[in-house]
Amino acid sequence: MNIIFLGPPGAGKGTQAQRICEALGIPQISTGDILRRAIKEETPTGLKAKAYIDAGKLVPDEVVIDIVRDRLDQEDCKAGYILDGFPRTVPQAEALADFARIDAVVDLDVADENLVQRLSGRRVCLNCGATYHVSTMKSDCCNHCGQALVQRDDDKPETVLSRLKVYHEQTAPLVSYYQDKNLLHVIDGAQQKEVIFDAILNTLGVKQ
Ligand code: ADP
Ligand code: ZN
Repeated sequence: MNIIFLGPPGAGKGTQAQRICEALGIPQISTGDILRRAIKEETPTGLKAKAYIDAGKLVPDEVVIDIVRDRLDQEDCKAGYILDGFPRTVPQAEALADFARIDAVVDLDVADENLVQRLSGRRVCLNCGATYHVSTMKSDCCNHCGQALVQRDDDKPETVLSRLKVYHEQTAPLVSYYQDKNLLHVIDGAQQKEVIFDAILNTLGVKQ
């Protein structure tokens, strides 16, 4: 199955995508993780992307489209994948339609007031992409790979508001875009993690 995870920043896309991918044995393709790794490694793409990300803006469409097109070409994507954080604009969705066949779009729905709180308390592992919240963190290191957890620069309060604005202006139109194509599955992202996980498997028609 080729699946898209849609939803505002902080809705839990990354967390749920990681778990659903483990359950289904397919790769998670997070454009945010790929870009952050590129920044850390100071690749040409990373250098180009950094200013946009730090400002809470979107990286230009052509940059992320090229990243995703190359990634989906790899062998491990043949049996399916989850796109986490892509597409984020209508032009990205239109480009994707030219090189991929999407089976389902999962939209995690969370109100803005909850998002601000989630994002400002979020800590991430820059090595494997796992995310945590300060209110429930038991250690300063990642449970999965042991690397130190850090606050993303773009999770600082000023940038969070700009990211939410960008979401409403540029990404939210994809909800009706995929609804019109009969691919949309809306899940209440304010529920408990386990409940959301089961609801996603259920709506995708996957038996555990
Ligand atoms: P979140 O969903 O929490 O905002 P991501 O890790 O998905 O976090 O994205 C972080 C940042 O990376 C975005 O704010 C944006 O600058 C950039 N980015 C990620 N994916 C895309 C995309 N598909 N198009 C443009 N920019 C992107
Ligand atoms: Zn990790």
